[in-house]
Amino acid sequence: MEKANIKRSGCLAAGVNALNAYIGPGKTPEDYAEYAMRDAKGIARRDLLVSMSRRLNRAASEMEKLGLTILKEDGNVAMRGDRNVKINGENIKPLLAAGVLREKRIQVLNRVNVYDLIVKDGTVVGALGAGVFEDELYVFHAKAVLVATGGAAGLYKPNHPGDSRHKMWYPPFNTGSGYAMGIRAGAEMTSFEMRFVALRCKDTIAPTGTLAQGVGARQVNVLGEDYSRKYGVATSDRVFGTVEENRLGRGPCYLKTEGISKEQDRDLMAAYLNMAPSQTLRWLETVPPSMRNVEIEGTEPYITGGHTASGYWIDEGRGTTLPGLYAAGDVAGGCPQKYVTGAFAEGEIAAESAVAYVEGVSLELGEDANFRVQRHLRGEGLENPEDLEKEMQEAMDQYAGGISQGYRYTGESLAIADGKIKELAERAEKLRAKSPQELLQVLELEDKLLVCESVIAHLDFRKETRWRTFAEREDCPGTRDEYEGFANSRRNGNKIEVFLRKLEVPYVC
Ligand SMILES: Cc1cc2nc3c(=O)[nH]c(=O)nc-3n(C[C@H](O)[C@H](O)[C@H](O)COP(=O)(O)OP(=O)(O)OC[C@H]3O[C@@H](n4cnc5c(N)ncnc54)[C@H](O)[C@@H]3O)c2cc1C
Repeated sequence: MEKANIKRSGCLAAGVNALNAYIGPGKTPEDYAEYAMRDAKGIARRDLLVSMSRRLNRAASEMEKLGLTILKEDGNVAMRGDRNVKINGENIKPLLAAGVLREKRIQVLNRVNVYDLIVKDGTVVGALGAGVFEDELYVFHAKAVLVATGGAAGLYKPNHPGDSRHKMWYPPFNTGSGYAMGIRAGAEMTSFEMRFVALRCKDTIAPTGTLAQGVGARQVNVLGEDYSRKYGVATSDRVFGTVEENRLGRGPCYLKTEGISKEQDRDLMAAYLNMAPSQTLRWLETVPPSMRNVEIEGTEPYITGGHTASGYWIDEGRGTTLPGLYAAGDVAGGCPQKYVTGAFAEGEIAAESAVAYVEGVSLELGEDANFRVQRHLRGEGLENPEDLEKEMQEAMDQYAGGISQGYRYTGESLAIADGKIKELAERAEKLRAKSPQELLQVLELEDKLLVCESVIAHLDFRKETRWRTFAEREDCPGTRDEYEGFANSRRNGNKIEVFLRKLEVPYVC
């Protein structure tokens, strides 16, 4: 079930120009795991990272068989550094979709928004969906369910509020529903406090990796000083450096492209056409990157298990803590830096585990949990979801470390955010949907509010600052040994309870 259309949906909808997770020549899966552990400052699962990394290159070659152009140099895969493969990936989703549609035993239901799991005695036995345009509700009975609904965008006020609010980096239609259905069903979740703030080209919100790795552009402040390594080299440090330079009055900040060759100009324009055409258009409308440095900024925080580690707490087979439920990709936690190939690798592992699980399991009819929809078909309807969403984003921005606060928060500000989000959740319960589209909006809002509540609970739990900017706790600077572990949570009644799972082997960075 896919809420959009598998030909153009999710993170890959606009295409990609690199496979960010690949084991380059002379490197091993263990090297990749080590890199991801270091980047996450020790809070990641080595077992998940290694089992994913072992399948990365095969995922890339499977994609190539489906028709993806992987660029080659002297007959070998063209690498960008040790871990990155250059591709022409504008058509990655249509290629994938064609591959799926060739499989006779797969039935795809496009435009179906899955909004809840069906649970019986703690076991997942199906899922509930609603038509995005059609007046239809779907009840799926299943021996096993695999959730791969991506991460959560739209929790925080974005860089461009108002009419351009959907011009954000993470897909605005990945609304955290996969997380929310797990939280509601009582699954254990991990690391929601490890938010992801992307360092992006200003205004277009286009990725910066192609500039940094493709043409070696350095991060410079308005004085022309190179601060690329001054704050550290982890992903979070690079964003923090930019935020800090701005805070100290040395902004705006740029990627230094002035002086690159005309050929590099052309390569960059082509590369951005593969994934963020608005950046190419910007250069065509103004001047090419060789003539003007590219201004950079941080986005609003997202929750994603594909770049950082937020999501379901899973075992090595990608089984969640709820029997019958498997998770893969950005919705699965503990395994950061998985990107496209890692998401495919996890999908494969999860599917293999689910196939093994269904042997000997019979179909069960779970409890009918359709009350959420019923409530909104009969609600009071005095408010509309868009207004409540704006209030939610404002509260998260102001009190839970959004852009306007330089991503900083304190215990006191989080308590205010928590109060506001809970009040909004109560108001959202009364919303009325008069069409399938309105129902979608209302359900998405409820999901986002529940994810916000979890994010706040996690941010509050970790009383330290381990990942600059991603979790910048102003009243608790620096790291503390007692938080060397995963902040995990489970919903108990209406309360999100957060607890620590210590690292089995202490990590030394
Ligand atoms: C803008 C952007 C650029 C990126 N560029 C690169 C890159 O160049 N190289 C790289 O390696 N990685 C890149 N990544 C990361 C990579 O794309 C993701 O990590 C990966 O695609 C995650 O896969 P996924 O299946 O978990 O999520 P997605 O690919 O987002 O798929 C989730 C799917 O679930 C659907 N869905 C969501 N909610 C529901 C629901 N309730 N019911 C039904 N369907 C639902 C969505 O519509 C979507 O199709 C990029 C990510 C983004 C956001």
